[in-house]
Amino acid sequence: MADKEKRTIVVTGGSRGIGRAICLAFAGPGTSIFFNYFPEDPEAPVTEKLVAETGGSAKSLCANVTSEEDMSGFFDKVMEETGRIDVLVNNAGITRDGLLVRMKEKDWDDVLNINLKGSFNCIKIASRIMMKQRSGSIINISSVVGVSGNPGQANYVASKAGLIGLTKTAAKELASRGITVNAVAPGFIESDMTAQLSEKVRENMVAQVPLGRAGTPEDVAGVVSFLASEAGSYLTGQVIHVSGGMYI
Ligand code: NAP
Repeated sequence: MADKEKRTIVVTGGSRGIGRAICLAFAGPGTSIFFNYFPEDPEAPVTEKLVAETGGSAKSLCANVTSEEDMSGFFDKVMEETGRIDVLVNNAGITRDGLLVRMKEKDWDDVLNINLKGSFNCIKIASRIMMKQRSGSIINISSVVGVSGNPGQANYVASKAGLIGLTKTAAKELASRGITVNAVAPGFIESDMTAQLSEKVRENMVAQVPLGRAGTPEDVAGVVSFLASEAGSYLTGQVIHVSGGMYI
């Protein structure tokens, strides 16, 4: 593992929400953070500024995780600037909810492409770099519903369950090169994604949380940061639920 203060961290979808909190959890003097967003986000410079205030640096690029070409260009830029990648966090994700009998093909494809294929694209590129380094941590942001299932989210649940399978396989393929691969499965977390839900739905969700509150992006970011730390270095292929006990 590289000197903690000099690590290069890549976070997909770091402009806001959980992705921003993850960037900030890694931020500190000497740390280089690179994140992308797509299609556009006026919030990206805010994440950059917040990281700079910690003494670290964050650079963002508009790049679509579904495009291998975009992501190759993104990772080339990271390598040009720092020559290494210590941590990859596959966080970018979307929802397009609806009952499966009425689900449009485009809503299925968009969710699977961004949440699952996007993570595959980034793992494929970053793991080649990490294999040469013989070190690295990859953390995939799945979801509690990827384990439990959830009515109205067939596309999202399939993508997040697929991400768990991808995590376990990548963990087995990359372990001998000193690379760990884990998944974090958040429950109900306050962000733009959940702000779209009605007050009634939000109340119902919180009622299912034994700890009695919605999670914060920082609750998730702390666990991601632990998985990429020396203290988390003997974990690989695991799914860590950060859900206040929503799924036990
Ligand atoms: P969010 O606030 O909606 O942020 C999503 C981020 O992903 C944004 O930065 C967005 O960029 C980026 N993004 C979307 N499509 C992209 C693409 N094609 N290429 C690159 N970046 C893209 O979401 P969040 O709540 O923070 O969720 C983050 C992750 O946690 C997701 O994977 C989500 O499924 C997972 N999660 C969330 C919850 C929850 O309760 N919030 C629970 C379980 C799991 P723009 O800003 O340009 O749109």
